[in-house]
Amino acid sequence: MDRPDDTWLSDRFCSNPFEQVDTQPNQDIHFCPAAWQPAAIGKLSDDPETAWNSAKAKEIRRSVLEGDFSHCCRSECPRIAQRDLPTREEILSSTDPSPTAACYREILKSGKTHLDTPPKRANLGHDLSSNTACPARGTAPVQMKKYDADRLDWIVNEPYGRFLSKAERITIGRDGEPFASRHFLNFLKAYCSGTEPRKTLDLHTNGLLLTEAVWNRLDLWGHVGSVHVSVDAANPETYAALRPGRKLGQLMPNLYFLGHLRRLKAVDVYRLVFVVRQENYAEMPDFARLARRVGATGILFQRFRDQRMVQEGTCHAVDVVDPRHADHDQLRLILEDPVLNAPDVDIEDLGLPPVRIGAPRAPWSGGMSDAFVQKGV
Ligand code: SF4
Repeated sequence: MDRPDDTWLSDRFCSNPFEQVDTQPNQDIHFCPAAWQPAAIGKLSDDPETAWNSAKAKEIRRSVLEGDFSHCCRSECPRIAQRDLPTREEILSSTDPSPTAACYREILKSGKTHLDTPPKRANLGHDLSSNTACPARGTAPVQMKKYDADRLDWIVNEPYGRFLSKAERITIGRDGEPFASRHFLNFLKAYCSGTEPRKTLDLHTNGLLLTEAVWNRLDLWGHVGSVHVSVDAANPETYAALRPGRKLGQLMPNLYFLGHLRRLKAVDVYRLVFVVRQENYAEMPDFARLARRVGATGILFQRFRDQRMVQEGTCHAVDVVDPRHADHDQLRLILEDPVLNAPDVDIEDLGLPPVRIGAPRAPWSGGMSDAFVQKGV
C-alpha cells in the first residue's frame, strides 16, 4: 500500500538531479546532500562528465521522472517534508518563457536521463578543514594533510574547474572553512584565473582569514556573488567564548573590507550569520547594529541545531528557541526590539510566530529547567 508521501510524490518533479552536484567529505558526488539522497553518482576521482551521466545518475533521474523518487529520503529531504515540489502537469502547462522553465518542460517531454549540459549549481563540501574549534561539539580546528590536499588539487582543480566553468553558482564553505583549506584556496586561485568573471561564487566563511590581501592574492574580483560570514556574537567576550583562541577585533577589519566591496558593487550579497543560542541571544539587537555598521546587506538569525546531543522529549541546553527553555520568554521579549523588525533581518529559521507586543510574558528565570540535556555542552 502506498504511503501518503509516495502518493504525493507520484506526479511531482524535482530539478535537482538535472542541474546540481554536491560533493562530500568522503569524496563521493551526489545530486543532493547525502542525508536527503544517500546514493552517490560517482567519486571525485572520476572524470566529471562520466559521473554526471553515470548509470546511478541516470537511474536517479529515471526515479524522479517516473515519480517513484525511490532514492530520496522522505523524512530528510525538506522539499518532500515541506511539500515543496511542483507537479509535472504544472510545469508542462506553464507558459513561463524563461530558459529554466523551457528546460524543465523539455526534460519532462523527452524523458531523457542522459544530459549533454553540465550542472548549473555545485556545492563543494569535500574538504572540512577549519581554523576554529566548536566548544559545543568539542571539536578542534582541523587541517587536511598536505598529501591529501595535493591529491585533491590534482583530481579536482583542473577537471572540475573546466566542468563547472559555465555553472551559475558554486557554493563553498557550508561545512568547513574555505579560507583555512589549502585545497579550496588552490581551487579558488585556479578557478578565478581560468574562468570568466560572472559572480558565480557563493562563499560561506567565518571571515577570520578573508583579508584584503587574500582577496587580491586569489584575485576574487568579479567572481564572488555572495559572501555569508558566520559571526554569532556582537560582544568580544561572547565571541571569544564561542570561537576559542579568536578575537572579534581580529575579524572586524575583514568585515569592514567586505562592506567596502559591497559598496563598490564587487559583491551582490554580504550577509552576517548568527546562530541563536543561550550564550548570545541577548546580543541580537547589537548584532543587527554591528552588521549595518560594517555595511552588510542582510542579517540571518538561525536556530541552533545539534540533534545528536538531544534525547527525545528534552530540549538542548542552549536552544533558547525551544519554548521549553527557561530563557525562551526572554528571547521573545528581545525579538520585540524594533531593530530586529526590519527588512534586512531574516529570523524565519527561528520558526517563531510574530510577537504580540503587550502580551503577558513569563518572568525571565535566568536559570535552566530540569528538562535540559547538559551532555556535551
Ligand atoms: S526530492 Fe529531495 S532528495 Fe529527491 S532529488 Fe529532489 S531535493 Fe533531492
